[in-house]
Amino acid sequence: MASQEMYRLGSQRSVIRELFAYGQAQSEIVGKENIFDFSIGNPTVPAPACIKSAIEKIIHTRESAAIHGYTAAAGDQQVRQGLADYMNETYHARVEAGNFYMTCGAAASLTITLKALVESPDDEIIVIAPFFPEYSVFIENAGVKKVVVSPDTEHFQIPLATLEQAITPRTRAIIINSPNNPSGVVYSAETYEKVGALLMKKSSEIGHAIYLISDEPYREIIYDSLPILYVPDFYENTIICYSYSKSLSLPGERIGYILVPPYVEKSAEIYTAVCGASRSMGFVCAPHLFQDVILKCLGQTSNMKVYDENRKLLYNGLKEMGYDCVYPSGAFYLFVKSPEPDAKVFSDKAKSLNLLIVPADSFGCPGYVRISYCVEADMIRRSFPAFKKLIAQYQEKR
Ligand code: PLP
Repeated sequence: MASQEMYRLGSQRSVIRELFAYGQAQSEIVGKENIFDFSIGNPTVPAPACIKSAIEKIIHTRESAAIHGYTAAAGDQQVRQGLADYMNETYHARVEAGNFYMTCGAAASLTITLKALVESPDDEIIVIAPFFPEYSVFIENAGVKKVVVSPDTEHFQIPLATLEQAITPRTRAIIINSPNNPSGVVYSAETYEKVGALLMKKSSEIGHAIYLISDEPYREIIYDSLPILYVPDFYENTIICYSYSKSLSLPGERIGYILVPPYVEKSAEIYTAVCGASRSMGFVCAPHLFQDVILKCLGQTSNMKVYDENRKLLYNGLKEMGYDCVYPSGAFYLFVKSPEPDAKVFSDKAKSLNLLIVPADSFGCPGYVRISYCVEADMIRRSFPAFKKLIAQYQEKR
């Protein structure tokens, strides 16, 4: 007999995956060109040229064991040194190679970090809605309780008063994500300052550190020349979970890292617990080849202009039709208010026009849909008549 808990998890498909699978099946019937699939956040911009040249160089100049062998569990020393130098030069991060733990992407970074931080089943992890639905699974895996902070639907920044109310003596950590999936909003310096001050106050009130887990797979996907902020500058007890899935268009290669800076309270102890948590989940080491590849591509990104152009095309197009859209400053998602209270019903109506958009209920934000614009610009243009038809159904009623 299988574990019923794992069986339940394995047999459930996320709404995103379900829509994506529907799109694949439906395109066999009506033709790929007639399906407007905005469901999934799979980068469409190719990885930058440095990725291919790094792979070629490594393959042609090294022995097999130096390409495909195990690295240390925490990752290759030179790679981690390169990352420390890069973060120090770019963000004045004051970190060392020994603060980095290489992982199989952000999902691994988060599951490991959560497992490393929780001390008792009574611990609580706070998430800020809207949030990446897999957080629920990761928190469940750590065996603790998820506490949801309802969204600030006016600005989609972190709602301070609600966050303060959610903090209890059992709060271990808060997961934040900016640029945000699904809202496309980037948290401001002002937000981080206020959150930092609140967490300092609350940590001293409850008598232990509240850790901030900053989930940053979209760090460099940021528009309108907004600055990229280094979150520990605002709150020292921040652990960064990073991934190259989006910034270098490498989601299938599974590569990222955890950064436990030295100024985090009990930094050495937490880092050792990170090593233990990763070991207990059988990660062994992050893919060797891609550790070396990212060392050769530090500071590079895929061509973000493509996403920026898609962003403008979609945002302006939908605004003009009368959709109520959250202004997107980062990542590659447009968050749109459903013109009827139940976003699932709205998403179903869109589906009948072959428009695949994700209701945000599982992101903790009912009444909204997420439209992923890491797609071909041409598909966005071709989808406009369907978007027009969809909103017209509501405009006629008014
Ligand atoms: N966190 C957020 C906010 C995401 O959107 C994603 C993927 O879409 C992840 C984590 C997981 O990313 P990875 O592919 O690096 O595991």
